[in-house]
Amino acid sequence: MNDVNCLFCRVARGEVSAAIVAETPDCIAFRDINPQAPVHVLIIPREHIATLNDASDAATIGKLSLLAADVARKEGIADSGYRTVINTNAAAGQTVFHVHLHLLGGRTLRWPPG
Ligand code: AMP
Ligand code: ZN
Repeated sequence: MNDVNCLFCRVARGEVSAAIVAETPDCIAFRDINPQAPVHVLIIPREHIATLNDASDAATIGKLSLLAADVARKEGIADSGYRTVINTNAAAGQTVFHVHLHLLGGRTLRWPPG
């Protein structure tokens, strides 16, 4: 369920400090330590799931998106616009192997991403 050595499991357990912006029974949202936009929040399940490839529960993955929309409203970027991204494995640049949804906004985002 939880991985002792996983950075984001440690955030979920409160062992690593994070700027938490929202919590639900299943998910936590906290500010990215190296923000790529004025709003850059990571949304994670409390349960350890390494990558999207390892996910099987639709509700868990769906809740990440719904919490992202809630945080976007709270941060005042819901109407101007925002992006949600899950990087999976090396070619996408995944560096933390606990699935997380990036919520990015507060500036105009270019497409396609690099
Ligand atoms: P990814 O490259 O998709 O795996 O994203 C990992 C993200 O986690 C990066 O944007 C990092 O800046 C962010 N990150 C790494 N360590 C922490 C931390 N302790 N607290 C908040 N964000 C972090
Ligand atoms: Zn984990």
